[in-house]
Amino acid sequence: MGAADEPRAVDNWIGGRPTPPEGGERLDDLAPATGEVLARIPRSGPADVEAAVEAARGALDGAWGRSSVEERARLLEAVADRLEARADELAALESTDTGKPLALAREVDIPRAVANFRFFAGAVRHHADAFHPMQRAINYTLRQPLGVVGLITPWNLPLYLLTWKTAPALAMGNAVVAKPSELTPLTAHALGEMLAELAPPGVFNLVHGLGPEAGQAILEHPGVSAISFTGGTATGARVAAAAAPRFKKLSLELGGKNPTLVFADCDVERALDGAVRAGFTNQGQVCLCGSRLLVEASIYDDFLAAFVERVRALRVGDPADPATRVGALISLAHRDKVEGYVRLAREEGGEVLCGGVRPELPAPFDRGAFFAPTVVAGLGQRCRTVQEEIFGPVVTVQPFADEAEGVALANDVRYGLAASVWTRDLDRAHRVSAALRTGMVWVNTWLLRDLRVPFGGMKDSGVGREGGRHSLEFFSEARNVCIAIDQRPERDPGRRV
Ligand code: NAP
Repeated sequence: MGAADEPRAVDNWIGGRPTPPEGGERLDDLAPATGEVLARIPRSGPADVEAAVEAARGALDGAWGRSSVEERARLLEAVADRLEARADELAALESTDTGKPLALAREVDIPRAVANFRFFAGAVRHHADAFHPMQRAINYTLRQPLGVVGLITPWNLPLYLLTWKTAPALAMGNAVVAKPSELTPLTAHALGEMLAELAPPGVFNLVHGLGPEAGQAILEHPGVSAISFTGGTATGARVAAAAAPRFKKLSLELGGKNPTLVFADCDVERALDGAVRAGFTNQGQVCLCGSRLLVEASIYDDFLAAFVERVRALRVGDPADPATRVGALISLAHRDKVEGYVRLAREEGGEVLCGGVRPELPAPFDRGAFFAPTVVAGLGQRCRTVQEEIFGPVVTVQPFADEAEGVALANDVRYGLAASVWTRDLDRAHRVSAALRTGMVWVNTWLLRDLRVPFGGMKDSGVGREGGRHSLEFFSEARNVCIAIDQRPERDPGRRV
């Protein structure tokens, strides 16, 4: 690699300035599709987090701590404008850093990051709390920032999820210390650059590094009052344990093993499209992906055959090619983990109907973390392949005899994030939606998102809700003030209670 191609050094953003790591150590950020080193990022530790928290505290003690809702809403709009102006560049960065198809980054990741800032600018302007009048007093809610909040985000939707947390946190007047996944630091860095220009110093601080080092330091820092975490369930449990001794406010958006329930009365063409999209969007690396396809027995054989045909036709390869539907997985290590699950599925008695292999691709993609979209049938409900989150392009398919069995299979996993239900029967749609133990249900669609609605999981898929007023409420402290309006002594016989 010539000097001109040297990977660039990306720094932390602390107090509005690019800041190298205190310890001087760096990590390589790789392009999953080619193995190329894209950047050298800080391997931050407690000293870097300390500096970030101090900068955030400084912002809260300064003008930011006295900012009005209108000023903050305007900042959010300015960030949205800036993201929009750099959309092409950001989409390219996101695609290169994650391996996802460029078209997906262009159509989903970046527009949604813009929408997060625009939406919360409007939401905070219209956010109003309850007012509870009594005969002798009035109660009103004071909604105040929590202070310094820690945001920890995963690699699958890097800018989308970071902005999903940053926008409401800033809208409510907090100062942020964020840590993106060390596997996908580039769009977070670009966001830090924009906020360094647009916001007062210290309002948004970004610390790169490893979860157990930089992430753990954020969790344990006494100056961080709340943590919003999106990631795996096992990490979520560690986050909760680390936050417990100081009773930090927590929002945990964790893993999923989501069912796609297909009833015989569905619109089959639409259900097929939906099931393929739910299974393989972003290489199956969306927490909401439908990785368990459950099909009513009377249409099982035909539906499965058509599903496999469509999955086989998904084009795998160069993320920049507009025809590509399935790009690279996040890393070679993750590809190996997914491949291990397919091996396990075979050992558990499953039949691999398509995929299950590393596709043969020309250079430089022969060094990338690619895996062919895979469909496995014939597994029992207790198989690990059916129970555990694989987070890759692998869908298991099972038949069910009737509605009761379909719902029972759908609910019989530790996770409870999302489900999609395909039926033309309105009564069934309501009944099944109510019976599913998931935070979100889609009927005859998948991944249709409205930023106002509650987002989050049940069971091992998380604690708390984000989205709309739920995010604004999470990122603020609600305090009640009760003011007497009748000053007569309490024993006054004329007093009305
Ligand atoms: P992960 O390994 O749990 O990591 C998530 C974030 O936590 C990363 O920034 C990671 O840093 C950090 N981290 C790891 N160990 C930590 C520790 N001890 N203390 C503090 N931070 C720590 O998850 P992932 O593999 O990046 O993402 C995939 C998972 O996220 C899947 O399970 C998926 O379902 C879930 N997810 C859930 C949602 C949702 O909304 N429910 C959305 C998207 C993804 P490093 O990467 O630097 O280690």
